[in-house]
Amino acid sequence: MKKLIFERGMRLILSILLCVIFISGNLSAQNSQLTKENIEAAVNEAYNKYKDVKEGANADYIKELANVDPNIFGIALVTTDGQVYTMGDIESMVSIQSVSKVFTMAKVIEELGYEAVEDKIGVDATGEVFNSITAVERMRGKEINPLVNPGAIASTSLINGSDSAAKWASILQVHSDFAGRNLSLNMPVYISEAGDNLRNQAIAHLLLAYGRMYFDPVQATDIYTKQCAINVNAKDAGIMAATLANGGVNPITNKVVVSPETVMYTLPVMSTAGLYDDSGIWLYHTGVPAKSGVGGCLIAVVPGKFGIAVISPPLDKAGNSVKGQLAIEYIIDQLNVDPYLIQPSK
Ligand code: GLU
Repeated sequence: MKKLIFERGMRLILSILLCVIFISGNLSAQNSQLTKENIEAAVNEAYNKYKDVKEGANADYIKELANVDPNIFGIALVTTDGQVYTMGDIESMVSIQSVSKVFTMAKVIEELGYEAVEDKIGVDATGEVFNSITAVERMRGKEINPLVNPGAIASTSLINGSDSAAKWASILQVHSDFAGRNLSLNMPVYISEAGDNLRNQAIAHLLLAYGRMYFDPVQATDIYTKQCAINVNAKDAGIMAATLANGGVNPITNKVVVSPETVMYTLPVMSTAGLYDDSGIWLYHTGVPAKSGVGGCLIAVVPGKFGIAVISPPLDKAGNSVKGQLAIEYIIDQLNVDPYLIQPSK
């Protein structure tokens, strides 16, 4: 009898031990991807693999963007615990362009709540190009999206502030808080676009006609044009992405920039509308929220793990940085951090 109890006890202990070994093995298989060595290797490999790619062309519908050095290529990966991994040119500054839409949208959510963005702007992808006038017309100003021009100009108009200067100061401040240093304006890009943004002015006026513009349309478009001309380098953009990955707390300065709930409502819109008409293709390949801009900046967020940014001005036909997409996709793949890659529990 005693022998039987002893044998059963031993068998139970053995099975528990095997379970523990199996579970911890599985967990470490999932986590082992994010060691310092693995991250360094992935970032370095991505840089070397794609540095000589010559496809794509600078945007030129904003004249000053055509003059930006197309050879700028920098990668910055910043983890949620504040480690910074970089390769290539992380000093050169480019205008942030549409990547700014993410941070202004987050600020509106922070100030007015996520319902305001849904009710006053809309969060569905329009399915049309980023500066579409027909999207506004078709929807009579409803269901425009904060990450394409009409919704982004509407977001700018919603930012708290009694006048244009106060709204602009608030937008520049939140971008600086996300980056962890004082950012400033790329004056030549701002002047170049401000002198040539009749289409965005038209969009703002059409929104006003439908009761979906919440500030003077000329001034709102001007602030929007300024926010697109904020200068960033790859490291700034990487830290901005990492702040989103870290639930709104800047992992370098530790400043609480926005709340975790604000980030929770911002990332899904990046997933569905972050890369213009190729947003679905991007999500299919990487599984992560991202946003690109016509200045050549691309950021991506691996929630809870890291933010990553690439600056490389040549764009593909959809308007996304060619090297940016290649490098980030490669790194996400190497590090096995696609959130949809699920290790079964048994
Ligand atoms: N300032 C640019 C525009 O309104 C931003 C476009 C973009 O990066 O998608 O056309």
